[in-house]
Amino acid sequence: MVLAVGAMASAGLLGAGGPVRAVWARAVRPRTVLLASPRSLCAGVERAIEVVETLLERYSGTDRAVFVRKQIVHNTHVVRDLESRGAVFVDELDEVPDGAVVVFSAHGVSPAVREEAARRGLEVVDATCPLVTKVHAEARRFAARRDTVVLVGHAGHEEVEGTLGEAPQATVLVQSPGDVAALRVPDPGRVSYLTQTTLALDETAEVITALKKRFPGIRGPGSDDICYATTNRQHAVQAVAARADVALVVGSGNSSNSVRLVELARRGGTPAYLIDDATGIRPEWVRDADVVGLSAGASAPQALVDEVIVALGGLGPVTVREHTTVTETVAFGLPAAVRSQ
Ligand code: SF4
Repeated sequence: MVLAVGAMASAGLLGAGGPVRAVWARAVRPRTVLLASPRSLCAGVERAIEVVETLLERYSGTDRAVFVRKQIVHNTHVVRDLESRGAVFVDELDEVPDGAVVVFSAHGVSPAVREEAARRGLEVVDATCPLVTKVHAEARRFAARRDTVVLVGHAGHEEVEGTLGEAPQATVLVQSPGDVAALRVPDPGRVSYLTQTTLALDETAEVITALKKRFPGIRGPGSDDICYATTNRQHAVQAVAARADVALVVGSGNSSNSVRLVELARRGGTPAYLIDDATGIRPEWVRDADVVGLSAGASAPQALVDEVIVALGGLGPVTVREHTTVTETVAFGLPAAVRSQ
């Protein structure tokens, strides 16, 4: 599709007739693409992908398959690519043969999943992001001091499922200030909070304010649970969206941090859209835009962003400018099980 869009423009076919061509033809104009930086892969996602790649290489040519529980990261292109190279993605461990190699995704798992893997003799390689592991450790620590642990997060998200599983009896999930108002806890003097790593900073601040009002003695994590990558990408998308006529965010629909980027740009008053790749661009979104803000969630590879720029280039000359709000230097080492062989 990227090439098709470019080819249509360069061949001068856009105005040649037909409703589809006419729509695209009206979108042809010079544009500036304002690239948000930081964008795209974070250290936790890079590490998780490298874990799977390393294992695929290690077991290539053997009869050992590399199983991955859940999507290694929430991006359809990354998953499809690893699948094409031999990775076998499963929803639950009962789909993995006894004794096989299984990777836990970047979003983390609950202790119950670890126990099942141990019981089954599975060879586990844990690609949980260290910043998710930090939240798990806090959940255990807060529950051990007999606090009610209030987890701010989205119900059903894999990371939340994993964190809830650390202290299921002691943890309650809230998603909004309304949920905080409805909370009933055994001892209002013994309450702590945690958050999912990929939440919107502004919305989460509202929930935490409500928690502090409701439970003045509430204790939180020593450092923010919303991770550096989420924070930086949100600041960067806000900066470019404020200067753009429309914002595009590359990412998959189940990627929490990507969806948050779109919502944030919209809350700032800029129309914004989530696209899995360049084929998702609709001409009416960019037709009247002189400046297109462009970002990508922490699980969306830069190559997809490059394809979007190529596609926009098919709709007229594009000037690409990068707007950097902060420079990231974070990197995580591979898990010992991957390093050691
Ligand atoms: Fe880790 Fe944050 Fe990336 Fe999630 S978004 S994998 S918590 S660095």
